Amino acid sequence: MVQRPWLDQYPPEIPRTLDYKDVPVQNYLMMTAKEFPSKTAIHFMGKELTYRQVYESARKLAGYLQSLGIKKGDRAAVMLPNTPASVISYFGILMAGGVVVQTNPLYTERELEYQMKDSGAKVIITLDILFPRVAKVKAQTNLEHVIVTAIKDYLPFPKNLIYPFIQRKQSGIIVNIEHEGSNHLLPEILKLPMGTLTEYEFNVKDDLALLQYTGGTTGFPKGVMLTHHNLVANTSMCEAWLYKCKRGEETILGILPFFHVYGMTTVLVLSVMQGQKMVLLPKFDVKTTLKTIQKQRPSLFPGAPTIYIGLLNHPDLGKYNLSSIEACISGSAPLPLEVQQKFEEVTGGKLVEGYGLTESSPVTHSNFLWDQKRVPGSIGVPYPDTDAAIFSLQNGEPLPPGEVGEVGVKGPQVMKGYWNRPEETAEVLREGWLFTGDLGYMDEEGYFYIVDRKKDMIIAGGFNIYPREIEEVLYEHPAVQEVVAAGVPDPYRGETVKAYIVCKEGMSVSEEELNEFARRHLAAYKAPRIYEFRAELPKTAVGKILRRALIEEEKARLRDE
Ligand code: AMP
Repeated sequence: MVQRPWLDQYPPEIPRTLDYKDVPVQNYLMMTAKEFPSKTAIHFMGKELTYRQVYESARKLAGYLQSLGIKKGDRAAVMLPNTPASVISYFGILMAGGVVVQTNPLYTERELEYQMKDSGAKVIITLDILFPRVAKVKAQTNLEHVIVTAIKDYLPFPKNLIYPFIQRKQSGIIVNIEHEGSNHLLPEILKLPMGTLTEYEFNVKDDLALLQYTGGTTGFPKGVMLTHHNLVANTSMCEAWLYKCKRGEETILGILPFFHVYGMTTVLVLSVMQGQKMVLLPKFDVKTTLKTIQKQRPSLFPGAPTIYIGLLNHPDLGKYNLSSIEACISGSAPLPLEVQQKFEEVTGGKLVEGYGLTESSPVTHSNFLWDQKRVPGSIGVPYPDTDAAIFSLQNGEPLPPGEVGEVGVKGPQVMKGYWNRPEETAEVLREGWLFTGDLGYMDEEGYFYIVDRKKDMIIAGGFNIYPREIEEVLYEHPAVQEVVAAGVPDPYRGETVKAYIVCKEGMSVSEEELNEFARRHLAAYKAPRIYEFRAELPKTAVGKILRRALIEEEKARLRDE
């Protein structure tokens, strides 16, 4: 039987169940533009756009997309960093009745071609410097039209004149967009008069808003089908959780990329739903982020542990005023306790750990932000209307508190399935539960803990070892900035533990010292046998360390030896 002790932890301010508006996601932009027409929706490198401007731009783009042949349910891709264009494109596609395909601007030609073919996208909206990559794969895909924009289009004078030179110097790319019939310029589209728009009826529980490809670390990713209701529900849950935030009065820092589900829900859609101002940064750079916080004074700052760690370790941290920060939810990877404590000391705001995955739009759990009990090391409790349970790996039965098994979640934020992949869908969606592939347990009070990814568990000499436990210990060493532990092939033990370390700037530690430290805090069979020091570690777009990529690297190295 599934037990739900977390319901007793809920404060009166957060309802256990919510009423969701029966509207598609794009209607929130229309409603907010009516309520706050002249309020700043976007701040981007010194330039601001109001909600009315964003709405009108998205509406113009929607009309244009329909004139290119986009109909309800057609896929259109957005391959942009966080910019005003990414917001306009996202809502423009939805208003046209289309399904947004989120595309990582870092995709190689091969990955891009795969995603365009898999999703069947007819249109892609991208940046001038990414255009050559798109142009190369276009003929092999269903893409009929490419809409291009440039960072300079959204910069104030004189930055808009200087930026192309800086960009050319940095990227070395000279952009040459051929003006053939299928290439279009976004700034030109936005100058057109507002045309007519075919309005569609939406069945929000069934109609897709998004194809969100999961950030798989090996193999090709699958398209997660998220409906309008999935996104409205998850964003409404975030809104309920942040009950102290006031509509139209907060500023949200948008560092998490919108092409990843986490930034899309917790910054983009949440801001628009609540009429907040979003301060966009096209990429994560520590110094720019510190400066932006000081100047733009955001109150909300969703992020990932590596982002908070990066800020805390900047040598000039003390020179910046970060006191505007009130609430931060950290997701996508475990949040080390010392990072949480130090960040709260420095900013005076709250930083708590949450949890989710692409397949659940993404948030399913979080610690409480304000007066209620929060448990460091835990991902918190399930969101409103969200059920969660731990299932035995042996027989699939729900387990009692304290026992480790696979985390299952259920709720209105859980995906419809994987695009065109019924078998993979059936593997993870069973009897209404989404099987997350994460191992964890629940305590007696209903707080959940992630022990590790099922597939990251290391089996060394017959012992089960969870890399996270090793990482937590090594993070406590004062010289360690980042660490990841991984199981690498070993002829005797099957796998052995290897630790990859990045030291804090200006600090170092020897392998012997670190090994001694690890052995003092970990059972001998768990302590790493191999250490490697690196200047940086490979990461996903949201800053999650790519453990799998390191394991593959090690395997390739062993094969070559
Ligand atoms: P993605 O689909 O790219 O958002 O990745 C989802 C995965 O990130 C989850 O299945 C977890 O393995 C991991 N994850 C998310 N939040 C946390 C957290 N707070 N602690 C540990 N792992 C997390």
